[in-house]
Amino acid sequence: MIVKRRSIPLRILIDEALLRRLPLNHPKRAEILQDLLIRRAGLKGEQDLDYHINLLHETDFHIFQSIRLPYGKNFFQIDFLLLSPKFILLIEAKNMPGIIEFEPVLGQVIRTYNEKVETYEDPLLQVKRQREQLRRWLQDHHFPSIPIEFIAAYSNSATTLRNSTSDREVYERVCKAGKLVFKIEEYKQKYSHNFLTDKEFKKISKQILKSHIPEGSHLHLFNIGRSDILPGVSCPSCHHIPMKRVSANWLCTSCGATSKDAHHQAVADYFLLVSPTISTKQFKEFLFFPTRKMAADAIGKMGLKPIGGKRNRVYIRPESTI
Ligand SMILES: [Zn+2]
Repeated sequence: MIVKRRSIPLRILIDEALLRRLPLNHPKRAEILQDLLIRRAGLKGEQDLDYHINLLHETDFHIFQSIRLPYGKNFFQIDFLLLSPKFILLIEAKNMPGIIEFEPVLGQVIRTYNEKVETYEDPLLQVKRQREQLRRWLQDHHFPSIPIEFIAAYSNSATTLRNSTSDREVYERVCKAGKLVFKIEEYKQKYSHNFLTDKEFKKISKQILKSHIPEGSHLHLFNIGRSDILPGVSCPSCHHIPMKRVSANWLCTSCGATSKDAHHQAVADYFLLVSPTISTKQFKEFLFFPTRKMAADAIGKMGLKPIGGKRNRVYIRPESTI
């Protein structure tokens, strides 16, 4: 069963919000778009593997999607962690079209795609590091030792995998998505003995879930000033900023579209890019409400969580805490 489902990574949400709100000639747009495409491809790779992992018998594993655990001052992130009382399986998801040539002795893979040759780290090295970190993490939490297996799975059907040095580990641990369920079957055959009692199994599962820390904002990496962020409600049809408030509607002065709730996206962008809190005054100014009364009425209907007293009240996202 799936114990922890992935959510859309904050990094993707922030990149998308930035592309909505930076001027078209802003020098960082290309870098942000590149980052977004890489992150979206990664997410797609993980989502494509879901289908294959869902073919597993419901009760065989506790499945954690995209789990991020603290270790020392750092974190380690695992695309899929499958926990059973017999073994743990880590799966690194890859979504890369092209010819992927493994060079395990050098710890790299060479990708040839659209006549471009690029070098990446061998994904088996990545997942081996995760295995080591998880092993120590389990030890630090005083859990019994349990075998930890690992696989790198390529989900893109336009990927050709090559193992020209006939490396055994690559044959055993790298596969296309369609083979994943059979690989997992092999591990199930290999481990017939329970390393964990039912109680220990449930305890580890709970501890992993409890320890998961979602990735924080990476906005600082782009060095973008508050004044670079365009205020205003963005048109859902043509992305023009700002829309104009006309009675209880938003009107796009560029394409003529109207919307009742386009300000929800603007407030979500504000939380992602400007501040985790918003006052009625900030709401009015960022969204260009003509009057304070209209702003107060609209913010009151948004289902945000108010904090502070009447004089210094601000709002946060309903699910967040400060
Ligand atoms: Zn428009």
